[in-house]
Amino acid sequence: MPPRPSLQLLLGMAASTAGGDSCRLIPARRRLSAIAAGAHRIRLLHSFSGSRRLSGGHEVACCVRSVPASRPAGPVAIHSSSVHSTEDYRKKCEERLRQLTEKLEKEGICPKEWRFGTFQRMMCPMCKGGSRKERCLSVFIRMDGVNTTWNCFRSTCGWKGYVQPDGFPKLSQAKHDQDSKPNVAVNKVYRKICEQDLHLEPLCNELVTYFSVRMISAETLLRNSVMQRNRKNKIVIAFTYKRDGVLVDCKYRKVSKKFLQEANTERILYGLDDIKLARDIIIVEGEIDKLSMEEAGYHNCVSVPHGAPPRVSRKLPHKDQDKKYQFLWNCKDYLDSATRIILATDADPPGQALAEELARRLGKERCWRVNWPKKNEKEVCKDANEVLMFLGPQSLKRLGVHTGWKSMDELYKVVPVELTVVTGVPNSGKSEWIDALMCNINDQVGWKFVCAQWKTRSGSMLGSS
Ligand SMILES: [Zn+2]
Repeated sequence: MPPRPSLQLLLGMAASTAGGDSCRLIPARRRLSAIAAGAHRIRLLHSFSGSRRLSGGHEVACCVRSVPASRPAGPVAIHSSSVHSTEDYRKKCEERLRQLTEKLEKEGICPKEWRFGTFQRMMCPMCKGGSRKERCLSVFIRMDGVNTTWNCFRSTCGWKGYVQPDGFPKLSQAKHDQDSKPNVAVNKVYRKICEQDLHLEPLCNELVTYFSVRMISAETLLRNSVMQRNRKNKIVIAFTYKRDGVLVDCKYRKVSKKFLQEANTERILYGLDDIKLARDIIIVEGEIDKLSMEEAGYHNCVSVPHGAPPRVSRKLPHKDQDKKYQFLWNCKDYLDSATRIILATDADPPGQALAEELARRLGKERCWRVNWPKKNEKEVCKDANEVLMFLGPQSLKRLGVHTGWKSMDELYKVVPVELTVVTGVPNSGKSEWIDALMCNINDQVGWKFVCAQWKTRSGSMLGSS
């Protein structure tokens, strides 16, 4: 039988092999062989290593049954405990881990393999990883089994939990109910701005002239508090976004048509105060279009704050994630009171995409789209400002549906909510003309009609149309 090494000897060996430096602790659970330890039951508790993890020979052993006569010199930062307490501790940990895994399984968390002391990703039993089957649930079980936490990272699910081996699970989940879901916009703290802080000034004569070329009067500019600002020695137009007369946001436009917007401010519709309690609302794509509408007599008009998207998005996000259209949600109270929303966005594909995105959010049943009239033989007006510039305010005022007869369109267009009375001597063709008008409009824009013609019997009416 080999001689029994003393604890001092073992520590001395360890100190010399570990280089004598105080090093980081590495938990170790291996046992030294009984022979090498001289029939002592030696349990390896900790290992001191240098820059690299040391091999088995370079470990500090603690003879747990021998009480050293005196404390040895050298590194002695050894955590020791009795075999029984360590065994007990290990058993308790194992028991707690068993209870925890049982509890997790009851919650539907069943990975192929249990891992402790590390964040483990797996399928969430609540949302099943959504349509993309993501491994969205992160589970952490403490190495000592004292508790476990889990969290689903999918925002629409957000299932969270915490449980201790002897406790009931504490669970929470993101609510799907739109009204009870915390609104990011509501919680967000926006920067407060004022005209003085932004160094806004009244428009100079050059800019008033610039607007007059675009048929926007100084009066309209003043009413909408259009201002200017000196940014890096260049004068830019400042469109002030107000709610209840208070400045909320500001957007700058260089004459080169480059836009800048204040950071960390609340995004709202431009001209918001003009649609307060309005039943009919017009939404345009830019501030100048809003001002153009005003020139034609429409005050119940607002503009979106950042133009049009390149295309219609595939999925409609939840309002909290709907960052690009957050301005709509921020102005929801104003929009909710409208029964009819006229989408007068640009005639180009992005403008049409914007109209679609707006209609999806506002409810298609109360949205109407504007078809811009022709600018000349080949081109169609792009937006409200082009109609104002090329065809004049009367054309913008009389935006409506084409009758189907070019000569007639110059005189009359069908505008929703307008009452039109057609008169004429008997048998001059009033009814036939109205029938033809309905057919033309149905053909062009797909409107459907309900007819109440008391003088015509239903049979002949159906037969003629
Ligand atoms: Zn989930």
